[in-house]
Amino acid sequence: MPTNMTTILIIAGGALLLILGVVAGVRKARNAWRNSLLGQIMQGVKNEVEEGKVGPEDFKFKQELATPKSVSDLSTALIPQINRDFPDLNISQMQSAAQSVLVKSLDLLTQMTWGENGDTIDRIQKQLPESGIGITRSYSEDLWHRIEAARSEGKTLIYRDVTVHKSGINEYKKTSSTVEITFQYSLQCLQYQERNGKFISGNRATPTQCRYNVKVVNILDAERFASEDIKGVGFTCPHCGAAVKHLGTDVCEFCGTAIKTVDMRIWLVDKLFEI
Ligand SMILES: [Zn+2]
Repeated sequence: MPTNMTTILIIAGGALLLILGVVAGVRKARNAWRNSLLGQIMQGVKNEVEEGKVGPEDFKFKQELATPKSVSDLSTALIPQINRDFPDLNISQMQSAAQSVLVKSLDLLTQMTWGENGDTIDRIQKQLPESGIGITRSYSEDLWHRIEAARSEGKTLIYRDVTVHKSGINEYKKTSSTVEITFQYSLQCLQYQERNGKFISGNRATPTQCRYNVKVVNILDAERFASEDIKGVGFTCPHCGAAVKHLGTDVCEFCGTAIKTVDMRIWLVDKLFEI
């Protein structure tokens, strides 16, 4: 009997040690999980849910949300054409200035629809040209109309943590009155809408992948044209009417007349649209 008792005690002792061991193991695993990157992310998400910053409606972990969108980049074919027409133009500088207009525009959509503020279209016209390229009146009006529409519905349009993935030259187009360069950008941001500080749509937890086109136009600088008395503003020679093939040149190749038309033109961002 004592032997059996001892056996039972040994078994009981062994079981107790086993249980303690399992408990320690679970604790260790839990700590390891908490310290892991994924664990920290999940904990962060849990905290945000508890604080009401995100809700269950945000957790759409779809592959399409995680993969950056592609851009249709035709730079290789278009840069030589643009260089031929505008030898002095720094295209890559324009591409990054147009990107800055895009990112600042999204930021202004957020800031100017955030709560009560006295912001007007003047803020758009003052701040966007700080990107290194000007904007047309119609660009600032388009952006302003989107802000006014959101305000009238009491909506805040939020674009947070904007990261640009890729960019390229998508189109180069010459018409009788303008020349247009369209840049394309793929970016991600936390994109959602709020009303009275409450979430109404979008996704606050997973970045939304988007693609935007920014169209830059080469148009007559109306202010300068009015202040300087120079005739001839099209892409034809004002003296002989010959087509000006190289927009960067300043002398007509047929009659030698000095052409000031190019000098009177400036590059301005004219349109922004999501595609
Ligand atoms: Zn001529």
